[in-house]
Amino acid sequence: MENIILTGDRPTGRLHLGHYVGSLRRRVELQNSGEFDKIFIMIADAQALTDNFDNPDKIRDNIIEVALDYLSAGLDPSKVNIFIQSAVTELTELTFYYMNLVTISRLERNPTVKAEMQLRNFETSIPAGFFTYPVSQTSDITAFKATVVPVGEDQLPMLEQAREIVRKFNATYCEEGKEVLVEPKALIPENSVCSRLPGTDGKAKMSKSLGNCIYLSDTPEEVRQKVMSMYTDPNHIKITDPGSLEGNTVFTYLDAFAKDEDFAKFCPDYKNLDEMKEHYQRGGLGDVKVKKFLLAVLEQELAPIRERRKQYEKDIPAVYEILKKGTEAASAEAAKTLSEVRAAMRINYFDDAELIASQQKKFNSTAE
Ligand code: ATP
Ligand code: MG
Repeated sequence: MENIILTGDRPTGRLHLGHYVGSLRRRVELQNSGEFDKIFIMIADAQALTDNFDNPDKIRDNIIEVALDYLSAGLDPSKVNIFIQSAVTELTELTFYYMNLVTISRLERNPTVKAEMQLRNFETSIPAGFFTYPVSQTSDITAFKATVVPVGEDQLPMLEQAREIVRKFNATYCEEGKEVLVEPKALIPENSVCSRLPGTDGKAKMSKSLGNCIYLSDTPEEVRQKVMSMYTDPNHIKITDPGSLEGNTVFTYLDAFAKDEDFAKFCPDYKNLDEMKEHYQRGGLGDVKVKKFLLAVLEQELAPIRERRKQYEKDIPAVYEILKKGTEAASAEAAKTLSEVRAAMRINYFDDAELIASQQKKFNSTAE
């Protein structure tokens, strides 16, 4: 079996550090690992429309932002296919068929969708498209026969849903040993902090919808301001006070970003994060010093991304050309799967010479 990756993001805004540690950084590593036969990276505009249907320009404007973030983070169009979801129309057709394989009550149990509905005040009037987006996500994954889906923790229920639909499809329509769809595996960051990076306000998740993000394309000054006003320990008032790490976002970010060698470079008073944490808890280490260290660590990561972005921004038509090529490759792949799906579902009438011949025979015999 081939090793195939499918993953993506909603073009509802620029990408932030949560996307970066949750999925994007990993994608670049996987892309360069040489272990994958095909990699598809999707800009999920159709999914973004499920809760932004009344604001299509927001989606339209953010496609380029996400594409620029991808390229500047190091995704290489010679190794991955970056594509636009809505332009691969096979995905929509698959979704329509998969809808039959899932119940309303099963969809209602999805904890991520529940939380997102609450966030969007959808409790009383849920757009059917939003409610069923886990089914459309199953199409995205299965159309490419993806085996691996690198995502943040909030996507685990979607992957579970996808596996269920795959099993149901294969059991309903395929002979044993001739399964059409492939069960995908989620690839969640090993570092639990990275699988759900909190916002700069200390809230559970950095998310475009919550406005608590550091964006990959923020200027150094914006990053500085955001880091300096980050949530720490509200009881750590004087430097000499003992500080707590519990819910202390600055340390959570250091858990996600700081490497031992960063201490030698930017904060040689400590050998590693454990030593720094120990001093903070004992008392005598001020928030400003920790924040300055975090800022240096983040800048080391963000500066080259920002630089590459500047280069790509100079030639926007070339970026659209990359998207167009990626979309063509994705469409070709999805079309192959769709034709297998149609055959398995017995709806490939025109391709089935045997069907037509056997029916002719049947009518001939009844006419006799
Ligand atoms: P929206 O608010 O529009 O849903 P979002 O910030 O949640 O935006 P998505 O496009 O929904 O971003 O998520 C894209 C990918 O990034 C998913 O794999 C998701 O798990 C991951 N991701 C998003 N936010 C975080 C985060 N704070 N920590 C880790 N991973 C994240
Ligand atoms: Mg989201």
